[in-house]
Amino acid sequence: MVDCLFCKIAKKEIPVEVICENEEALSFLDVNPFVLGHALIIPKSHAENIGDLRDEEVGPVFQTVKKVTGMLKKALGPEGFTIGINHGRISGQSVPHLHIHVIPRYPGDGGGSIHSVVENRPKESVKETREKIIKANYGN
Ligand code: AMP
Ligand code: ZN
Repeated sequence: MVDCLFCKIAKKEIPVEVICENEEALSFLDVNPFVLGHALIIPKSHAENIGDLRDEEVGPVFQTVKKVTGMLKKALGPEGFTIGINHGRISGQSVPHLHIHVIPRYPGDGGGSIHSVVENRPKESVKETREKIIKANYGN
């Protein structure tokens, strides 16, 4: 995509601190890290979100997530990671090209878990929710 920041990064038109890449995916350090080693993984071809990602790119992109997690562990020694995608503007996605955040977690880093991202408990049961999902996707 012509004006996409992360497409330009994928084409090496904008310099970033690359740590790992393969044919389909690129990983680089976030320019504004929340913590030491905050990294991003992107598909090299444009996809706004995971729904747009071509099936054949899913493997290489998530293999890169796995690889980067190991690389950061080895180099920086975090105790764990939070790995996540802001999907859509409502969730905080500011760059409309899919990127997976790999955020190393260190003791005393002041962060929370994915459970703290949202607090909007549903009124229906999980059984009812499942029925909606199954009906919408597989029919009756
Ligand atoms: P999100 O809010 O999930 O869309 O995350 C976008 C991320 O991209 C932010 O954490 C930014 O700091 C990061 N970012 C934006 N521009 C660059 C850049 N030129 N190089 C590296 N990271 C970037
Ligand atoms: Zn793009």
